[in-house]
Parts: sequence; C-alpha cells; structure tokens
Amino acid sequence: MSSWTLACSACGHPESQHAAVGLCPSCGQPFLAVFDGPAPTRDALLPRWDMWRYAPALPLADGEVPVSLGEGLTPLTEYPALARLVGVRRLWIKDEGVNPTASFKARGLSAAVTRARARGVPGLVVPTAGNAGAALAAYAAAAELPARIYAPETTPRPILDIIRAMGVDLVTIDGHIGDCGRLSVQYAQETGFFNVATLREPYRAEGNKTLGLELAEQLGWRLPDAIVYPTGGGEGVIGMWKSFHEMRAWGWLDASARLPLMIVAQASGCAPLVRAHAEGADRATPWENPWTYASGLRVPGPLGDRLVLKTLRDSGGDAESASEEEIRDYTARLAHHTGIDAAPEGGAALFVAAKLVRLGRLSADSEVVVYNTGSGASYRA
Ligand SMILES: *Cc1c(COP(=O)(O)O)cnc(C)c1O
Repeated sequence: MSSWTLACSACGHPESQHAAVGLCPSCGQPFLAVFDGPAPTRDALLPRWDMWRYAPALPLADGEVPVSLGEGLTPLTEYPALARLVGVRRLWIKDEGVNPTASFKARGLSAAVTRARARGVPGLVVPTAGNAGAALAAYAAAAELPARIYAPETTPRPILDIIRAMGVDLVTIDGHIGDCGRLSVQYAQETGFFNVATLREPYRAEGNKTLGLELAEQLGWRLPDAIVYPTGGGEGVIGMWKSFHEMRAWGWLDASARLPLMIVAQASGCAPLVRAHAEGADRATPWENPWTYASGLRVPGPLGDRLVLKTLRDSGGDAESASEEEIRDYTARLAHHTGIDAAPEGGAALFVAAKLVRLGRLSADSEVVVYNTGSGASYRA
C-alpha cells in the first residue's frame, strides 16, 4: 500500500523499515517513518469506516490486513456555547472518547500492533499511565499476541479493569510511568517482546497522524487556526504535526495553507513541557513528584520532549497548564454544554484554550479545535 523507511528524528540516521526498531543507535532519539514512494492521493482513500480509510498514508504493506477494532473516524462537532465560554469565534470538539477502549490511544496501538504482528514478534510490552495499556491489551488480544503491561497502581480502576478483561499480563507498580518505562525496557530485552512505549518505536506516531488526516477531511480539506491537545508523552501532537506536513507535500492541502498553532495543555502538577516552552528550552527537565488525576498527563520526563517543543516553536504555538480544580471545573462545563462524557484531559485542554484567550496569547478571532482525548467513564472509582 505504501513504501517507507525510517530516519532518526534528530540526527537523520537512516534505517530500513525492517531494522530492529528502538531508539537511534547514534544519538538515542526516536525514529520516525519517512514515506519514499509515489505521493499517495486523496482519491486513494479506502471506503472503510475506521482510521484505515487513510491506509495510503499509513505504514501498511500490500495486501496486509491491519489489526483493527474500528478505531478513529470520531465526531468533530462545533459548539457555539463553548466558543462563547472560551472567547473565540468558532470552537469544535473532536471526541476521542468514542474509540475502542475509550481513548485516542487506539489509533497508535492499532498501527503499532499491526507492524509488530507483521514482524512476527513473540509479544508486546508497554509502560502506561492507563489508556495506552488498555489499548495495547485490546489490540494484542485482537492480534492473538501475548502482552505485558506495566501501570502505576494509582491508575484509575476502570482502566485497569479493561486491561484485566483482555486477559493480558498486568503488573501494577508503586511509582509513575517513568518507573514503568524502565521495567518495560528490561522486560523487552529479556523476552524479545516489542516495546510499544511512546516514541520508542515509530508506528504509534503513524497511527496518531489520523487525528490530523481526519480533522482535515472533516473540515473540507482545510485546518483550523489553532489546535489544543492535552499532552503527556507528546505522541498525539507529534503525529498530527507530521500529518499536516505530509498532506501539504502530497497536495492534500493547499501548498500555501497556513498550518495551525499547536497548543499543548498540561496539568499544573506535571507540566514539564509547559515549563520548558516558557524557558525557550529545546529539551524538558523531568518533573519532580508528578501528580494529576488526569492520568494521561502524568508523564514527568517525555521521550518526545524535543519533538514537541520544536512543534510548538515551528507552529508558533503555545503551552499552558490547568490546576486540578480548573480541570474538574472545565471537564464538567465541557460535559454540560455538549453531552460528551469528557475525560479530565479534555477538560484541561478546554481550560487552557480559555486561559490563553484571557491572557491575550490566543486571538479571539480564532477557529479552534479542542481534543477530548478520552472518556470520563474511565476515571470513575
Ligand atoms: C495518553 C493520553 C493523553 C496524552 O497523550 P500523549 O500523546 O501521550 O501526549 C491525553 N489524554 C488521554 C486521555 C490520554 O490517554
């Protein structure tokens, strides 16, 4: 379907798509996929109603059937009441809570498990703040592959229940996702299991490109002025930004189309990217004692820090945080105005949009898309 190689996102070190993926052997930074065949066209989109509609833009071999549970093609809905609340001209919510396993993580794991199965790996392992583990559990089950999942014992109960329901091997840890990450690396070395930790392999980012591909198609092949994304590891933002450049290069968007300002929302209890962006740094220093009940945002030392901060600079974007109180307040407002059972991460993003308008850092004339990345149901005790 498509033809690609891999290149280190920092030093450009090339690898074939068949190389053992992991971090770059020369500089330790993440690999990304580079499409090198003829440019895919919009006419080649498939008549199927999940994210593999965009297969021509994704890493999929000829005749290969992806590991899919019907992920993606999520609603994009405009809410004038939310636009008034935030103080912008137009505002849409893209609701990722309706994905299989109730978060956008389904997209990345569908793509990564598809590639892992094609390589014939013995199994999969992931460190997770919650939703990535639920998604891996489901896609590993769909692929009939074993999986080991490391999650903090403070992960919301409904998410741990989904993981257990899939019959995979769950290990809960007295620590945060960084601690889980170290255990996953070790386990992958011992077993040969494929480690699908955020940006430790290039294919979750590819699945997350569909967050952007879909958005463009839903808006009639154009993009909004600004996108607010609740960010932990950064894979959502990185995948989306990659998709915008590819669409422009492939002629899916006007060559002169201005790309959106990319805005990162974090929690005040764990905001390494907000801090680094404010300091103009190109790397983030790990956050001490990270805490937020928006567990998807509890990533103290993201591996993708360099790429996220570069995306913010290149897009003219911004980054801000929300306190626990502000997250609760705006999660409730999001639900009350829309009927979406929003995740706290979505509430954080909506709050950050309003905060930036109030601070004069986001124009009141903007058209803004806010991603609700998960479901409120996943967080109830
Ligand atoms: C993982 C997650 C995030 C953060 O996404 P990243 O790609 O890691 O930045 C946000 N919201 C929810 C619900 C998540 O599960």
